[in-house]
Amino acid sequence: MKQLSLSRLHCEECSQGLIAQLERTTGHTGFAYDEEEQVLSIPQDADIDLVYDILAADKIAIRHNNEVACDCVDCRFPLPGAHAHDAHHDHETHDDHAHSHGHHHAHSHSHSHTHGNSVTNIAIVFAMNLIFSISEFIFGAILNSTAIFADAVHDLGDAISVGLALVLEKRSKRHADGTYSFGHRRFSLLGALITGLVLLLGSVFSLARAVPRLLAPDKVNYDGMLVMALVAIALNAVSAWALSRGSSRNESMLNLHMLEDMLGWIGILIMSIVMRYTNWYILDPLFSIALSCFIIYKAAPSMWSTLKILMESVPENVPMEDIEQQLLKLPHVHGFTHLHLWSMDGQSNNFAVSLFTDLANAQDHKLLRERIRALLMPYNVECSTVEIDYDPEKRFVGKVR
Ligand SMILES: [Zn+2]
Ligand SMILES: [Zn+2]
Ligand SMILES: [Zn+2]
Ligand SMILES: [Zn+2]
Repeated sequence: MKQLSLSRLHCEECSQGLIAQLERTTGHTGFAYDEEEQVLSIPQDADIDLVYDILAADKIAIRHNNEVACDCVDCRFPLPGAHAHDAHHDHETHDDHAHSHGHHHAHSHSHSHTHGNSVTNIAIVFAMNLIFSISEFIFGAILNSTAIFADAVHDLGDAISVGLALVLEKRSKRHADGTYSFGHRRFSLLGALITGLVLLLGSVFSLARAVPRLLAPDKVNYDGMLVMALVAIALNAVSAWALSRGSSRNESMLNLHMLEDMLGWIGILIMSIVMRYTNWYILDPLFSIALSCFIIYKAAPSMWSTLKILMESVPENVPMEDIEQQLLKLPHVHGFTHLHLWSMDGQSNNFAVSLFTDLANAQDHKLLRERIRALLMPYNVECSTVEIDYDPEKRFVGKVR
């Protein structure tokens, strides 16, 4: 068995498709792919060069190759005129470098599994949040409390984000089709966008109700608030308990969040007791304003980062100038233009570039493309498009605009 460590594949269906294609084309059975480790196992007698070609045709980069004497890009993609192996590096230090690089980024992506039970649990949390939020809007009005109104906005945001995640998470994993040629990853952004809008608009509305009350505090029904706080704390405790039995990442995130929600209700509980004995009704708008500001403080940055992805900004963790330098350092590359790097959903990125080279041979162009895919390995690029322009007179040098 030979083993190749690959760049991330889209999904299990994609890796099964790859296996089927490898077996069909090479005529050998026994290929296997480890989803967790992202390692492809190849039968000993299968034609390895054919395997390389199939991977390259699918734009899959090889992260780590133990089947070659040296794993460095110069040795793996030997372009004409490149230095002989012994001349360009010392073997020991070089190998260490390749290893540390290969493994450093191997598990950078996050998994989120949502199966059977956890879907039901999350659906229950959604329904509870929605029903509770609506009753908060109603009772907030009846009890004349702006604090409960602000919390209703927060719970509505929770309900919408959980509900949309249930619907959109599945959709965002679908493959590209005639309507969405980039795939459906951006559907996962839609949830963050809509939730953010609801939270921001709701909080502004809530502030508009609470601020005038600072000047003219109005009597609130503190007994009703006390009962409501007790019910909310009980409900939160029950759902936190239900979720704590689940183990998915989504569930533990929700669990943590509900503890935060509970703190808010403990605040309302204490406030209602204080107001019963002191008549400090100004506490209610103060609490409401503080909560609304907290909601805006949390929602605005995530809204902004979602908008930046939709506006095709370069992902924050990608050093664009560094990539420009690395492109110009490639052998036989003297210029580039239309360099684009953007993110689909904040995790998976796309890349496009036009290169100017003096290499005329199509086989060398292929090596160049694969070298660029190897170079992009740390940046989670799922789809890379490399256009190669033959420019023997070197008319286009450096970063061409
Ligand atoms: Zn897939
Ligand atoms: Zn080497
Ligand atoms: Zn919440
Ligand atoms: Zn362009």
